[in-house]
Amino acid sequence: MSKLKIAIQKSGRLSEKSLDLLKDCGIKISNGDRRLKTEAQNFPIEVLFLRDDDIPQYVEQGVADVGILGENEVWEKEKDVQIVEKLGFASCKLSLAIPKDEGYFGLEYFNNKKVATSYPKILKKYFDEKNITVEIEEIGGSVEIAPGIGLANAIFDIVSTGSTLLMNGLKEVEVVCKSTAVLISNKSLVNEKQAILEKLLFRIKAVRTAVENKYILLNAPITAVEKISSILPGMKAPTILPLAEEGWVSIHSVVKEDEFWEIIDQLKTFGAQGILVVPIEKMVL
Ligand code: ATP
Ligand code: MG
Repeated sequence: MSKLKIAIQKSGRLSEKSLDLLKDCGIKISNGDRRLKTEAQNFPIEVLFLRDDDIPQYVEQGVADVGILGENEVWEKEKDVQIVEKLGFASCKLSLAIPKDEGYFGLEYFNNKKVATSYPKILKKYFDEKNITVEIEEIGGSVEIAPGIGLANAIFDIVSTGSTLLMNGLKEVEVVCKSTAVLISNKSLVNEKQAILEKLLFRIKAVRTAVENKYILLNAPITAVEKISSILPGMKAPTILPLAEEGWVSIHSVVKEDEFWEIIDQLKTFGAQGILVVPIEKMVL
């Protein structure tokens, strides 16, 4: 039986999260000795550990069938691959930054300036669309030191908190795009591999839905059930169980993580007590 070959980053920001995702999908992988490739014990996949920059090329060529990497690398490499799922981790933005004491009055600032970056294709496309002429200086890493050493006037790089910029006397002036980790796939997988990918995607979606939802349990007077049910829909409807104390029930339901605080306040005004909120491991809709 053939296996789906999945490429993940060998060592870097995505490595651990990629392995965690597979683990949360119930896939057992032993990577004790950091080999180049390893097979899962209980799922038909083979994991290849590669540099993230190389993953689009390998997936295009079919050396790997699918891969996990930052969307930014997919855009930059412009390989013929398909993005099949956003994975929600490694969120970052790609921004333009200039020396912090310079005045900034809009994109015109960059006309005829030199910008250092590891993402020349994304940057060129951006400035071409805006009709701005810049000189792009491609460098492999430590982009943020370029203005300080006189290599460029500005930089285009990944920014998460901005503290690296600040340490290098720079300020962010434009957010060009936002990226998260994605699962990419070769465009012509054989049926057998496509079927394994579907199975993997089903599991990934169940894991991601679970992360976005919480299980909520609370006690309430029976008279408040109707009001509480209206704000706690659950997957179908909330589960309501009698408590040993007359006139009281226990209500169980599922709430979205981002709606949670608002709902809690309303629940309290309806008389809810002993509210517990617990994580969900997997959720299949
Ligand atoms: P490699 O040696 O494999 O080429 P790398 O140095 O290019 O590794 P990392 O720094 O490990 O890459 O980053 C990998 C990906 O993680 C980036 O392409 C980006 O999508 C995301 N990323 C990078 N920096 C951050 C950050 N500060 N916050 C969130 N995500 C980030
Ligand atoms: Mg890289």
